[in-house]
Amino acid sequence: MLQKILSQLEASQTTLVAVSKTQANSQILKMYEAGQRVFGENRVQELMQKYEELPKDIEWHLIGHLQSNKVKYIAPFVSLIHSVDKLALLLEIDKQAQKNGRVQDVLLQFHIAEEDSKFGLTWEKAQVLLESEAYAKMKCVQVLGVMGMASFTSDKEQVRAEFRQLKEYFNQLKSQYFADAAHFKEISMGMSGDYPIAITEGSTMVRIGSLLFGAGA
Ligand SMILES: *Cc1c(COP(=O)(O)O)cnc(C)c1O
Repeated sequence: MLQKILSQLEASQTTLVAVSKTQANSQILKMYEAGQRVFGENRVQELMQKYEELPKDIEWHLIGHLQSNKVKYIAPFVSLIHSVDKLALLLEIDKQAQKNGRVQDVLLQFHIAEEDSKFGLTWEKAQVLLESEAYAKMKCVQVLGVMGMASFTSDKEQVRAEFRQLKEYFNQLKSQYFADAAHFKEISMGMSGDYPIAITEGSTMVRIGSLLFGAGA
């Protein structure tokens, strides 16, 4: 399955984040041995444990909701945090990155789905964040782009419209705040059920779990 997905991502040069939450180390190692280096986790505790136990050249991404008080545990090693949805969280990430002598790469998570159970910024809240004095003073965070999750629905056109919305937010942010920032180039969207749509809508990073590892694995 890994090779099949990678071949689908090749033409668009989309990055595969292998979502390894709940997977045993042995399963992750199999994927590692097949060449995969980017893995995504959604819980801090699980991420810390896997970081300790697995090869150190794995690039770990935190893709799930992150509480400010847990940032310190992953700040020494996490390579990309996809789920920044509050100024207070970004402030804490900046503080912990500074302590660790790092510049932390992050994505801004937007709310694009219909369900209100999912986390994420609105356009207005993102503007307030990026125009705040607190953000202007941050030295140790780098915003690489945006992340979003589409509605859990079989309506493909709705999913497509939501991905388009995220791409539109990306374009607007790029022109308003990141016009000169070459690093602002990532759109993290697409999961097992909807990644082919995400790719056609401009995803640069897909987060795939169940399809890759097998539902029962
Ligand atoms: C679990 C998860 C995924 C992967 O979901 P699959 O449907 O298993 O591919 C992607 N993104 C986030 C934020 C997740 O929590």
